[in-house]
Amino acid sequence: MKKNESKLWDAALIAMKKLRRSGHVALLAGGCVRDRLLNRTPKDYDIVTDAVPDRICELFSRSRRVGAKFGVVLVNSSGHDFEIATFRADGRYSDGRRPDEVEFVAADKDARRRDFTINGLFYDPFEDEVIDYVAGRADIDAGLIRTIGDPDERFAEDHLRMLRAVRFSARLGFAIEEKTFAAVERLAGELRRISPERIWMELEQILTGAGRRMGWDLLVGTGLRAHLSNVWPTDDQDSGRSAHRVAALPTGSVAAPLALASVVCHHSQVTVKKICHSLRLSNQATQSTLFLTRSLPELRRFDELELADIKLLLANPGWSSLTDLLRADLRACGEPEELYDRVMAHAAAIPEDKVDPTPFVTGDDLCACGMKPGPRLGEVLDAVFRAQLNEQVHSRDEALKWARSLN
Ligand code: ATP
Ligand code: MG
Repeated sequence: MKKNESKLWDAALIAMKKLRRSGHVALLAGGCVRDRLLNRTPKDYDIVTDAVPDRICELFSRSRRVGAKFGVVLVNSSGHDFEIATFRADGRYSDGRRPDEVEFVAADKDARRRDFTINGLFYDPFEDEVIDYVAGRADIDAGLIRTIGDPDERFAEDHLRMLRAVRFSARLGFAIEEKTFAAVERLAGELRRISPERIWMELEQILTGAGRRMGWDLLVGTGLRAHLSNVWPTDDQDSGRSAHRVAALPTGSVAAPLALASVVCHHSQVTVKKICHSLRLSNQATQSTLFLTRSLPELRRFDELELADIKLLLANPGWSSLTDLLRADLRACGEPEELYDRVMAHAAAIPEDKVDPTPFVTGDDLCACGMKPGPRLGEVLDAVFRAQLNEQVHSRDEALKWARSLN
């Protein structure tokens, strides 16, 4: 395995040495082992041990039990946080989400409670040895997502694993093994029982990652997408325009509002808002998604826009995502990108200080001219600001004159 000289890696090793010096087993587990074998930088290093949580807390002064029931302790080593988990087996799953109880067991059993073979590996960094109880290495080499054990049982225990299969497949470019795939198809309907928050956490990663086209196709192809219809209406664009649009976004990762907008922008604003709420997006992400889906048709009618409209779009923090969405939409529709080029050239030609200038006229100014506060004042204020953006007025005096003429 490659040597990783990162500070995080060093800190993980220090924590592991401490466990070993105290007579315990300490191994790296799960995603970090998979990622290192694939020459990808792990997000974090999860440590597993035979030490029980009380013992881990005894050994590490800066420690906190996070999943007390699950035997996980959060430890700070050399300024970095690590999860140290006791080897465990999960008990019965009565809710399709979480085990009812856990039991501390030997390493091989811990490997077998994990979701996919590629996620079931341990690594001993001191011996440079991969410990493989689940034939995960062969699946990493073959590029396969396969459940550990019977896929129907494993997906029935925890329905979210179906979305995780899609996520790992899309992220790593791995195929979902045939029996595992067939089980997802069979059990896709169980997705309705997962909370929207957990669904969105997975969907977000599927849609924003570089493998989003593969992820979207898998969502549609397995039937998982159809079973999201309670939070997100399905339609024939799912496997047509939306698939093309999500694929035509810039390569690499993209922001969540842009990714989501690319697959919902053909819906009405009301529906998009409902989808965002149903999936429990943050307010900010919802507003950004709504801006993109509302502004795309506007930008498509670029020739009808006034300078003020363009500046208002340009001043929005979502502008760059909006132009990415426009280009993806043109590509998805098989239209020339000439409109995108024109929009970009036009935007580049607008001086920065003219995009979002300080208004010449404020509400107080209008009141001083004798206007009464109220909705009409707001309308006049907007109209004067538009005139300023349209460069029909060039000074405060001209703006005030314009306002008086409107009143
Ligand atoms: P990522 O790089 O996205 O963090 P990961 O493999 O580390 O991927 P995590 O969700 O961080 O995934 O979980 C860590 C490990 O815990 C997994 O590799 C897997 O072994 C196990 N695991 C996580 N979620 C589940 C689950 N729902 N069912 C079974 N095992 C799971
Ligand atoms: Mg992880």
